[in-house]
Amino acid sequence: MKAIYPGSFDPITLGHLDIIERAAKIFSEVYIVVMENKRKKYTFSLDERIEMIKESTKHIKNIKIDCFKGLLIDYVKKNNIDVVIRGLRAVTDFEYELQMAMANKEMCPNVDTIFLMTDKKFSFLSSSLVKEVAYFGGDISSWVPKNVEKKLITLFNENKGGVDI
Ligand code: ADP
Repeated sequence: MKAIYPGSFDPITLGHLDIIERAAKIFSEVYIVVMENKRKKYTFSLDERIEMIKESTKHIKNIKIDCFKGLLIDYVKKNNIDVVIRGLRAVTDFEYELQMAMANKEMCPNVDTIFLMTDKKFSFLSSSLVKEVAYFGGDISSWVPKNVEKKLITLFNENKGGVDI
């Protein structure tokens, strides 16, 4: 069965990576798709976000990394994907995720959304938190892959004050 794990991945964290590794054990093929939404502001460009995912997931064989600007279900239909994977951290994620899952089901009845619970050690972790802490020079080494840590440190050293987080 083919699954898709869509997200902003701005940037990928160890919480995302944990979901990717677990999904890759369950499904024969997992598409990691970096979504670009014109109404959202990102810290990293689409290419940078893809590159960081590629670097961090070299050890996982049955994944495909891609990007998409548009409705998730259009990508899902075009690629004959069976399942959408999303991660759940806390109750606060639930309402939005339930709404999206129901809307997607309404638009594309053949596709189901499956939620993987966060590992408890990553339950507080988000891309925004990582950026906030990195911005102020805090230690993020146990929250993101090494390549992402380097990228964030460089970004904030070079552009202090001029970056959207
Ligand atoms: P989006 O803008 O689509 O929410 P994110 O990159 O923030 O994109 O998140 C993508 C998915 O990964 C979401 O389902 C989110 O709940 C999940 N996720 C993010 N961080 C974690 C984490 N620490 N543990 C488990 N799932 C996570």
